[in-house]
Amino acid sequence: MSTSTESLFTSTPARTVKSWAAQSATSALAPFSIGRREPLPQDVVIDILYCGVCHSDLHQVRNEWHNSVYPVVPGHEIVGRVVKTGSDVTKFKAGDLAAVGCMVDSCRVCASCRRGLEQYCEKFPVLTYNGADKVLGGLTFGGYSESIVVDEAFTLKISDKLDLAATAPLLCAGITTYSPLRHWKVGPGQKVGIVGLGGLGHMGVKFARAFGAHVVLFTTSASKIDDGLRLGAHEVAVSKDAEQMKKHAGTLDFVLDAVSANHDINAYLRLLKLDGTLTLVGAPEAPLPVSAFDLILPRRSFAGSGIGGIAETQEMLDFCADHGIVSDIETIAIQQVNEAYDRLLKGDVRYRFVIDMASLKQ
Ligand code: NAP
Ligand code: ZN
Ligand code: ZN
Repeated sequence: MSTSTESLFTSTPARTVKSWAAQSATSALAPFSIGRREPLPQDVVIDILYCGVCHSDLHQVRNEWHNSVYPVVPGHEIVGRVVKTGSDVTKFKAGDLAAVGCMVDSCRVCASCRRGLEQYCEKFPVLTYNGADKVLGGLTFGGYSESIVVDEAFTLKISDKLDLAATAPLLCAGITTYSPLRHWKVGPGQKVGIVGLGGLGHMGVKFARAFGAHVVLFTTSASKIDDGLRLGAHEVAVSKDAEQMKKHAGTLDFVLDAVSANHDINAYLRLLKLDGTLTLVGAPEAPLPVSAFDLILPRRSFAGSGIGGIAETQEMLDFCADHGIVSDIETIAIQQVNEAYDRLLKGDVRYRFVIDMASLKQ
């Protein structure tokens, strides 16, 4: 892959901006120059102020999903300020806050795109990083960078009422938990389990509580019990304790599994009651063996869900602004990002790292 900042399509000029990239599955993230296109008529140029660190960044930097193309400039929880707009842009003007999540484009015409489900685009959406850049050619590069240029159709509006750094994780951790909880109509009268109190899981707890469900957090970390309750869970079960798991067996309407590593999925299927659904949003490297009888009896469903469409992401951001919901974060400088990855793997983050992009200028 070319590391040149020149456009592959010479008619589209690019300018060089600073970023941090991984050059291979085993190399640390380090400073790297990338090209950003000059804005096309529908484009918004955003100076990135904060970018969240998602476990998917780590999976992809280390090629754990076996599809990474290097260099990888991660980052898909992006908030910043608009500095320039193309001539056809109507939603944004210079000076506005703006945000970008996991996608920067899609085919826009397939059945999924027409339903506002761009994440399930039949041609596959253009991901914010490690995707194919339709304009410049080569790879798309994400938010661990100074700025990004995105079509306004894939740019989100954010509230200035919310803490800006703590808003960034809503763009992935937020929408990835909001969307399945809405799709499976989680609400009052239901008992809902959230598995794994990480970046996604802690947003799942907040949303499930805000939607009126009775929320049970399942965690491997006894040290997270108090946080689980503070974040909105009505009950916390330590999943390593068989007695605590047994107490909830066959009682849950819905379980959202946000675990990043291999684990026993059947232990969570057994928590579901008749017609209950377990939805996986966590994306561990290896396949998860499912026991047929934990699905068959009593008629349980095992499902998956990917991020959310652009309209729903905006709906989620507006919901968060109305309800004062943001992530619990630890702000870091970009120079701490490799250490942050190691801490993320150990579960040593409460509950999302967010990079202050001002540090990129140091
Ligand atoms: P994270 O912050 O690292 O949280 C993962 C949590 O999983 C940990 O906090 C821990 O919670 C639990 N966990 C970790 N290792 C475990 C193990 N060996 N056994 C059981 N539990 C374990 O990660 P994240 O950023 O929230 O991402 C979670 C997963 O979702 C990742 O795989 C990520 O790639 C994926 N993801 C998917 C989508 C999608 O569209 N579906 C979008 C974004 C991210 P406890 O300490 O509470 O047990
Ligand atoms: Zn993510
Ligand atoms: Zn499409």
